Amino acid sequence: METTTLRQRRMGFLEKTINRQGSVLDVRHWEPTGFCEIDLHLPGVNMHNWQSPPHIKCRVAPYHYRDYTPARWNVTLRTCTLFIDTHHEGPGVEWAKSLVPGDIFHYIGVDGTRQKIVQGSHLVMLGDQSAIGHFNGLQQLAASHNWISGMVVIPEEAHRRQFTQTFPELPLDTLPTAEALLAQLEQQALHPSWQYYLVGNSLLVVAARKILKARGCTSDHIQAQGFWK
Ligand SMILES: Cc1cc2nc3c(=O)[nH]c(=O)nc-3n(C[C@H](O)[C@H](O)[C@H](O)COP(=O)(O)OP(=O)(O)OC[C@H]3O[C@@H](n4cnc5c(N)ncnc54)[C@H](O)[C@@H]3O)c2cc1C
Repeated sequence: METTTLRQRRMGFLEKTINRQGSVLDVRHWEPTGFCEIDLHLPGVNMHNWQSPPHIKCRVAPYHYRDYTPARWNVTLRTCTLFIDTHHEGPGVEWAKSLVPGDIFHYIGVDGTRQKIVQGSHLVMLGDQSAIGHFNGLQQLAASHNWISGMVVIPEEAHRRQFTQTFPELPLDTLPTAEALLAQLEQQALHPSWQYYLVGNSLLVVAARKILKARGCTSDHIQAQGFWK
């Protein structure tokens, strides 16, 4: 008990030292529930030099932090949007569901992921609903220099329709399950010069990578990042 209290006091001190703040501008929950968009103002973040889709370490509860992907950033206004999968239960989901416009937003910092755009090449994006912000970030970095295709797992039919309306800049096929995505990947034409971006559930990422490798894609054309297990 004593130890816990001391640990919490130390964590509390650390949190005060490292915590930064922004504000919540707007929150949009998709119907039915399971996905939300959160607009943020981050006055302390310089977005000029972002070269890869960033991630922000958010304080979702006392001593609990989760990474989310700022997308659709506006360098001048220092605003961005988080796209959060809220189908499951967890501190991150509880936090995302609780936010309302005007809330103070606490975070530790922003960093880049390892994924980079290969300018001029065809980008193939494969992942699940937690990767939508990341794919949006890749698309923003690519601007109009790349041809984009791919597949994203979205369990709810209404969300699949909403994805197509909300992200016209992301021409990705939507599929209800990871199994359906992997089955499609087994069939689809691949090209050795294309860049494959695998993001989201770690099992999906590993399985998709295995298929690509078995079908002759080399490691330098596959950029993989597991977000959750
Ligand atoms: C670099 C990076 C960027 C990320 N960006 C995003 C993002 O933009 N949007 C986003 O939604 N997530 C993103 N994530 C994942 C996010 O950080 C959390 O892992 C996720 O939201 C789960 O946190 P939680 O506290 O709600 O659940 P946890 O307490 O961590 O997990 C609770 C349970 O839910 C399961 N679970 C976790 N995530 C999902 C999911 N998406 N679908 C179904 N079950 C799940 C877990 O397996 C576990 O059983 C990112 C992760 C990383 C590493």
